[in-house]
Amino acid sequence: VQVDRLWRNARLATMAGEGLGIVEAGAIAARNGRIAFAGREAELPLGLRAAETIDCEGRWITPGLIDCHTHLVFAGDRSDEFERRLAGETYADIARAGGGIAATVRATREASEDALVAAALPRVDALLAEGVTTIEVKSGYGLETGAELRQLRAARRLGRERPVSIAATYLGAHAVPPGGDRAAYLRSIVDEALPRIAEERLAEAVDAFHETIAFTADETAAVFEVAQRHGMRVKLHADQLNDNGGAALAARFSAVSADHLEYTSEEGAAAMARAGTVAVILPGAFYVLKETCKPPIEAFRRHGVPIAVATDLNPGTSPIASLRLCGHMACTFFGLTVPEALLGMTRHAARALGREADIGTLEAGKSCDLAIWNVERPAEIVAWIGPAPLHARVWRGETCP
Ligand SMILES: [Zn+2]
Repeated sequence: VQVDRLWRNARLATMAGEGLGIVEAGAIAARNGRIAFAGREAELPLGLRAAETIDCEGRWITPGLIDCHTHLVFAGDRSDEFERRLAGETYADIARAGGGIAATVRATREASEDALVAAALPRVDALLAEGVTTIEVKSGYGLETGAELRQLRAARRLGRERPVSIAATYLGAHAVPPGGDRAAYLRSIVDEALPRIAEERLAEAVDAFHETIAFTADETAAVFEVAQRHGMRVKLHADQLNDNGGAALAARFSAVSADHLEYTSEEGAAAMARAGTVAVILPGAFYVLKETCKPPIEAFRRHGVPIAVATDLNPGTSPIASLRLCGHMACTFFGLTVPEALLGMTRHAARALGREADIGTLEAGKSCDLAIWNVERPAEIVAWIGPAPLHARVWRGETCP
């Protein structure tokens, strides 16, 4: 058997099977960018020859981390809102006064595709520096078809500028455009934007912001029905600011994920379990907004809902370009165990993107996306705040500079 590359003398947290799926004295072989073997070094196929062999000197290897919820393509700055919230204004107050999403929309509409890419690259680089190999990127700051498509094209280009997989999501239903007509905008989403995005394959999923300050259940359902007719996956910003049945709405459409979920009820968690919808928790926004209501982690566990953790990287409510920090906060604020946090940034995050057949675990056949760590135990990956103890990042079988 001939392979391109072999990593040996490693400890693997495969994220497959039980718990972290730990394999001591492990090895991984890659061929054509995919994992040809992952397991005990002693069980490598006889006669396996590698063009290159890398001695990992006992280091830990995990699947490359996956940030399954970001809004990292945007222009402008909203640090003024940080100061306004410190002075007592709420997110909803700021949104009603023309700030929040609307402020980013004004700046993003004025930015060229090149400018959007240039602004986003440092955020991407921060994630790559901590072992991330797949990033979901949402539109939603154009709120008119042309500007939304430009955001999605900028997202796609990030995957050409850097060795990383980008999963683009169309979030046209993020907010009603400032000064816009609600019904006319929703018609433009379903009649104009969705057919073009599907045709040009600019996004693989469609998301919506279902909240009292955004879109109703009926409006969200209308967008989802058309998205699914075009063969796109759906996911939902749900129950962030109050319980308005977002989790059940996501489940009704078999959404790959429902995200935020601070106010989700027991029934909502049960509906998600039946639908196979992943709970994506976003402790960065919870922290920045000084929320006190926590997502019902115990109910998710009881019903067997997979839990993923993401940054929600955005200029207002989660200006955080560190997935590890969000994993740390998921433990400290929401009570996740370290294995739950690590699975939430790998295996369950892959499922939240509908990409579980391709990424998220160290198993033969999957993309060879690896993070190789200078740690004694996997818990160090989320226990520390600050620079990542990353030794190397591998994307599609190639070690990244
Ligand atoms: Zn979000």
